Amino acid sequence: MVLNCSDSDAKGNEIYALIKELFPICRSITGNGVRQTLEIIGKHIPLDIQEVPSGTKVFDWTVPKEWNIRDAWVKDSHGRKVIDFQKSNLHVINYSIPFQGRISMAELKSHLFCLPDHPDWIPYKTTYYEETWGFCLSHNQFLSLSDGEYQVFIDSTLTDGHLTYGECFIPGKTKDEILISTHVCHPSLANDNLSGVSTAAFLAKHISNQELRYSYRFLFIPGTIGAITWLCRNRDSVAWIKHGLVLTGVGDRGRITYKKSRRGNAEIDRAASQVLRQSADNYSIEDFSPYGYDERQYCSPGFNLPVGRFSRTSYARYPEYHTSADNLDFVSTRSLGETFERLNSIFRVLEGDQTYINLVPYCEPQLGKRGLYNQISPNQMAMLWVLNYSDGRHSLLDIAEGSTISFQSIREAADLLHQAGLLKEVSPGTK
Ligand code: ZN
Repeated sequence: MVLNCSDSDAKGNEIYALIKELFPICRSITGNGVRQTLEIIGKHIPLDIQEVPSGTKVFDWTVPKEWNIRDAWVKDSHGRKVIDFQKSNLHVINYSIPFQGRISMAELKSHLFCLPDHPDWIPYKTTYYEETWGFCLSHNQFLSLSDGEYQVFIDSTLTDGHLTYGECFIPGKTKDEILISTHVCHPSLANDNLSGVSTAAFLAKHISNQELRYSYRFLFIPGTIGAITWLCRNRDSVAWIKHGLVLTGVGDRGRITYKKSRRGNAEIDRAASQVLRQSADNYSIEDFSPYGYDERQYCSPGFNLPVGRFSRTSYARYPEYHTSADNLDFVSTRSLGETFERLNSIFRVLEGDQTYINLVPYCEPQLGKRGLYNQISPNQMAMLWVLNYSDGRHSLLDIAEGSTISFQSIREAADLLHQAGLLKEVSPGTK
């Protein structure tokens, strides 16, 4: 199976263009913002859209009421809009209940949130499970408010409706699956997580015309409640998931961070480590912890799926995180292109990993008479490693790890030896 490397800068530009298109939409864990987002993604890849009614029990949780918002503002006593949802959807606390009224500055203050340490940034806040309302604004904007009466208007609805998610399934030769999950619930924030959403869409598009060993399932779901809902509705089929990744925050200029699955040494953990080690980039690999994004659900003890998380700067470790500074300038086409390339390489390792048996195991086979001996070929060393360790118990990934030769070279050496009749494939699962 071949996954062609594409020009990563061009890919970065395409991914960025989709981020830009999706950026203005006000998304949440439910509502029309998610639907509109999925509709746009659906122009790139086939997307199966699911609607789960409010009130549905999903494990220990309940699908919430659906939230939609059209407008919101605060006007001062002169009728001037001092906070305006139309200027930034971060201004309204996500899931704010409808409200209309005249209130004093003192009362208004108890509904306002800002970041004194970053006086020009608007924070991003949510109130999914508490029925209240509020506004977020920059600290400088807050300081400019004078005492007096204010008129508040939030034109939102919080009613029985649905939780919406999208699923793109790409069948491969086997039913064994690679799961890619990304959250689609944040409003105008670029890195968290339009970078993950857009990268996942382009990965799906890229592999959809390839010959694949694995089937791939891409989930575009609201964070936490979406993953819980999906797992609850698919608990009988999760055994097909052999490898998985949560994609989030993959467009900033920081180094790539891979967070291991709870298993710690799953093939996905090893494949990601192998790719990052060979990339010569600065990167970081973290152990699993029960905090972060939807890996928390996939790796909850009842499931314990082999799902890691692929990000750039790690979860919440950048000041722009969950603020208006996570904007279109915060993500770079170069980082997005590089992320795409690394993820593609991880897929290549998973697709190409295989276990063989050396059919000429008594002393080394004579490579020269088979046209395989070339002292200066970089493949020579890889061939010796593959021949020696192809005993039915070591996969090519095991051999790459043991030899420190790149997986790609090991894979190429195995292809040459296989073509020469020196290796026999062990069918997957009999290792
Ligand atoms: Zn977030």
